Amino acid sequence: MTAFLFMRTKLNTNKVIELKNITTILNTTDSFAVSNAICKHVRDGVVAIVGVSNASAFATIQSYSNTFHVPFITPSMAQNSSLPTPYQIFMRPMYIDALLEVIKHYGWPKLLFLYDTDEGLIRLQQLFQAVNAKEYQLDIDVKRATDAENCYAILTDIHEREKDNKIRVMLDLPAAKAEEVILKIKNNDDIGNHKFHFLLGDLGIDELNKSNFKNGGINISGFQLLNTTTVKNNNGVLKDWMTFAGKGAGKNEINFEAALVVDAVDLLDRVLRRRYQKDGSLSYSDTSRKVGVGGMKCTDDSYVSTSKHGSKMMEMLKEEQFEGVSGNVAFDKNGLRKNFKLSLKEMTMNNGLQTVGTWENKILKKEVAPSREASPGEMNNTDTRIRRVTTILAHPYVMYKDESIKTANITSGKENFEGYCIDLAQMIADELGFKYEIYLVKDGKYGEPLPDGTWNGMVGELTRREADMAIAPITITSKRERVVDFTKPYMSLGISIMIKKPSDQEKNVFSFMDPLSYEIWMCILFAYIGVSVVLFLVSRFSPTEWHVDDDSSITNDFTISNSLWYSLGAFMQQGCDISPRSISGRIVGSVWWFFTLIIISSYTANLAAFLTVERMLTPIESAEDLAKQTEIKYGTVSAGSTKAFFESSQVAVYERMWAYMTSAGADVFKSSVQEGIEQVRSTDKYAFLIESAMNEYVNMQQPCNTMKVGANLDSKGYGIATPRKSELRDRLTLTVLQLRESGKLANLKKKWWDLRTQCPPQDSGQNTGQTALNLNNVAGIFYILIGGLILAVVLVAIEFLYKSKIDSKRSQTSFGSVLRCKARLSFRGSLDGDTPSSGTPLRKSMSTYTYTGPTPMIGIDGYTAEGNTHTQV
Ligand code: ASP
Repeated sequence: MTAFLFMRTKLNTNKVIELKNITTILNTTDSFAVSNAICKHVRDGVVAIVGVSNASAFATIQSYSNTFHVPFITPSMAQNSSLPTPYQIFMRPMYIDALLEVIKHYGWPKLLFLYDTDEGLIRLQQLFQAVNAKEYQLDIDVKRATDAENCYAILTDIHEREKDNKIRVMLDLPAAKAEEVILKIKNNDDIGNHKFHFLLGDLGIDELNKSNFKNGGINISGFQLLNTTTVKNNNGVLKDWMTFAGKGAGKNEINFEAALVVDAVDLLDRVLRRRYQKDGSLSYSDTSRKVGVGGMKCTDDSYVSTSKHGSKMMEMLKEEQFEGVSGNVAFDKNGLRKNFKLSLKEMTMNNGLQTVGTWENKILKKEVAPSREASPGEMNNTDTRIRRVTTILAHPYVMYKDESIKTANITSGKENFEGYCIDLAQMIADELGFKYEIYLVKDGKYGEPLPDGTWNGMVGELTRREADMAIAPITITSKRERVVDFTKPYMSLGISIMIKKPSDQEKNVFSFMDPLSYEIWMCILFAYIGVSVVLFLVSRFSPTEWHVDDDSSITNDFTISNSLWYSLGAFMQQGCDISPRSISGRIVGSVWWFFTLIIISSYTANLAAFLTVERMLTPIESAEDLAKQTEIKYGTVSAGSTKAFFESSQVAVYERMWAYMTSAGADVFKSSVQEGIEQVRSTDKYAFLIESAMNEYVNMQQPCNTMKVGANLDSKGYGIATPRKSELRDRLTLTVLQLRESGKLANLKKKWWDLRTQCPPQDSGQNTGQTALNLNNVAGIFYILIGGLILAVVLVAIEFLYKSKIDSKRSQTSFGSVLRCKARLSFRGSLDGDTPSSGTPLRKSMSTYTYTGPTPMIGIDGYTAEGNTHTQV
């Protein structure tokens, strides 16, 4: 009404045409009163009826306006776009398709339609029709509410029943009532605000009281018909309106319904003016219609004829086009608005109302929402909202405070958790002055994209705006950065390999062999045999090697056994009594010495490093080692950045590792980091690819049986994640940087890593340097020594018995007496040094070409008692 009066006043000031208004205020649900009022107006000769209609009155008004050809211009909505409406002009656009597009855009499978008037019912019908026409699967639950209190009761009831589900509601209520309901939900601390998403059925989302939703706090979407910029430019309508309405109606802002009436009157005025300019002094007051021949009986028993100008005027109304307060005003043949534009606005948990798209020409265009300027002090102690912080269990970032909480499976409450991230969240909240609540991510995942384009894990909760931020060991990656915002990293790390530490029993007693590889040892063995054989041959063929011995025999020192002995002596750097005399033999000797020199030097250089560290004993030392084998399985945590790293890597080694992981079956991927660590602890046949900071922490924890091997595979960081365009992001980044610069983050790391070490440093899995050799490292050489001694004793015993047996046969004496005699002789000989009982010196036997001495009677191999007699036999 205010709008109508405003326009009449405004238009009549130019005096070209004077609009007279005949106003009747009536109860539109009483169709008899409506009929009478229309009859009266028609009889009075009105040129058009401008009025609000509701669902029940519309049919009546429509039939009268059609019968008497009186245009009916209404700010209300048409019921059906396809039904013919020859004498009606609808100022309110048909926008049900726009609402459905938004629903589709959000991907809602289910919707609660809450309405309070018959008009809502019409919109519901339209929605059903649109859903069917578009073949969209939408499950619509319908509830009619009497008032805001009733609406709220309905919503809380649904909340009780569907505790875990998101509740999407289309609120078909006037803006003020919708706001009342939303505020009630928002202020109820028992209901998580993230659970609800409201879509306003009306076109005036801007009419919500901005101060109630300065920082968002709840999810609301809706359309706005009015473009305030256009309104301001529109001949100062808004200014005039504010002056007029401020005085008259106590309202200083034009709402969209008033704007529709303003445009309706403006439209009528423009048409009349055009007609006037064409026809000169046309009077539109058609009193001839009062009672006339051919007239029709109206409800009040008067006879009224049809309007002469009605159809022409309808034509002109539909032709008219101008930029009105409600945007572009133009109509199609059914009197419905065309070429109109709606702004899609959105309010989220973190953001106040922002324009996020437009509906124009039946197309919903999503705009990138402009980032909201963070005004200093915006979030101060007056910010009472409780921010929802999502996180994930990961040592030592987030851990249960004690076992009982873990057993009770509690998933929220900052008092129930401890760890680096819990402290970090507290520091940040103190710094920024917000309240928060911590809860564990529902699906226990970090976040990876799903085939339908949505995300799971913490990233999913942020994209769905179920959480305000994620403070967790969540890695900053480019893919995630596209859907959520990250702060600057609060910790740097890289992917690393965790394996089970080889146990003590597995330490290699022959580790002194490690400095040279197996192949080299084999080559040395063959070289040794080859050199000995060559030396033997060249000595045989070289005349220089043959010489006359003391006993006039021609001898050659280099028998095959002496050649082997010589080469061994040289290799062991011990030397030997004999040495080659021929040039060729000396050449062989020299090259062998040189070879020995280099090999021994290289061996010695490597020995210390190889003997002292356990690194030698680990089966895997790098990603390449992992990729080369299949005996030790390896994998990552599922739905995380580590898995994504291998999936998208183009480095050959990592590609090979990814191919192995995908073919090795699902059990190499662990649903949580903890599960991966448990697997490593339980078997030495599994290596876990885990981020280095966690790896280092776990290695320092009881039972100290894990270790990090190799260098990090990449380098990246953990950040705090927020939904896109969150107003918190910049301030969070600033705070993280401040905490880093002030050393508080370093202290926090020390607190949760260094000060919680449970393993001695040498057991921490870090190769910090060389330690003293222990018996395990060198036991092998003792074994060789003992083995050699035993072998020697066994051989000599066999030899002794064998010779005694032969001698006893030859001398036909008993085996026992020969044995006794030999033993006594050997024993005496050993006491007297190299001198046997006869006192005759022993001579070492060489390979003898001719032998002409006396037949030895008793001898020990290699020694001959020359000229001796068998006195004891
Ligand atoms: N921190 C990692 C993430 O954010 C977990 C992992 O994949 O190792 O996904």
